[in-house]
Amino acid sequence: MKILITGGAGFIGSHLVDACVERGDEVFIIDNLSTGQRDNIAHHDGNASVHFYEVDIRDWEKISDIFEQVRPEVVFHLAAQINVRESIRNPVHDIEVNILGTMNILESMRKHDCQRMIFSSTGGAMFGGDNPPYSESHEAHPESPYGISKRAVELLLEFYERQYGIRSTILRYANVYWPRQNALGEAGVISIFLDKIQNNQIPTIYGDGSQTRDFIHVADVVSANMHALEKNLTGVYHVGTGIETSVNQLWQILASSTDTTIKPQYTPSLWEIQRSALSPEKLRATGWNNSFSLKDGINQMKSAQTR
Ligand code: NAD
Repeated sequence: MKILITGGAGFIGSHLVDACVERGDEVFIIDNLSTGQRDNIAHHDGNASVHFYEVDIRDWEKISDIFEQVRPEVVFHLAAQINVRESIRNPVHDIEVNILGTMNILESMRKHDCQRMIFSSTGGAMFGGDNPPYSESHEAHPESPYGISKRAVELLLEFYERQYGIRSTILRYANVYWPRQNALGEAGVISIFLDKIQNNQIPTIYGDGSQTRDFIHVADVVSANMHALEKNLTGVYHVGTGIETSVNQLWQILASSTDTTIKPQYTPSLWEIQRSALSPEKLRATGWNNSFSLKDGINQMKSAQTR
């Protein structure tokens, strides 16, 4: 199958490239390398089934040309500005990349008859409050330009499906971690903490550390994407574990598993959702399940580092 992956040189996208290559697909990657890295996909260099385009999704001419040449059957759309704090500092950039860039992809799909998109959305930046885990029936309340841009794309996808028959799966991820993670991402806290521990530096915790997140291993996020493709799912699905872990608990798990005596410093938060977790029950009912607990994932990270 011809599969186009935007953001395919990034953290999650590069793992998705690996999974598609393993399945025998021909893979076309679009990435401007703003946060992604060529190294993440360098192990596919020389593979005639993997094609890389260093292109910005905001460039309508180039995007439309790629779709005309390639004629992909499926698009996994991951390219985005993903840093919540950065979206607050510069909301215009978020709207340009996450909404207008996505419009270039959707219009190219419409123009060149590509009927299927699997979209990487966010649960972490859309739900927060007193009663996690949140299911798909909860109303989304994005509070940052990042979350708002993702919600806007979800609504645009519903419109393109109704109007043009382009079928989409919207996968709302919890906080995805490791390996190849960029420390700027939504779950970058794990990478940042580990980095600080390794370099014997003091990490900063924003707020009092009681804020909770739902950490999901990247392998489980990739398996959710492949499951959506193979089962031909449409609609919205939450991809999380349903389990809350506070930033303080996360620090304790990491500190005890690495035997560090470093103490974090606390600083007031600019913006923070207090509690967050996503219920994966709807996706589980279709036959998917996550296979890593947070402890499993951290143990795997530790043994990879000591190898
Ligand atoms: P990432 O930054 O590693 O990946 C994003 C990729 O998009 C990068 O390779 C980057 O270079 C590319 N990109 C950015 N702007 C671009 C542009 N204008 N044109 C072309 N390419 C561009 O981040 P990630 O964590 O792998 O995120 C992938 C997707 O998953 C994103 O859409 C993100 O919103 C979503 N998501 C991630 C998490 C998480 O915890 N990491 C959680 C929820 C949703």
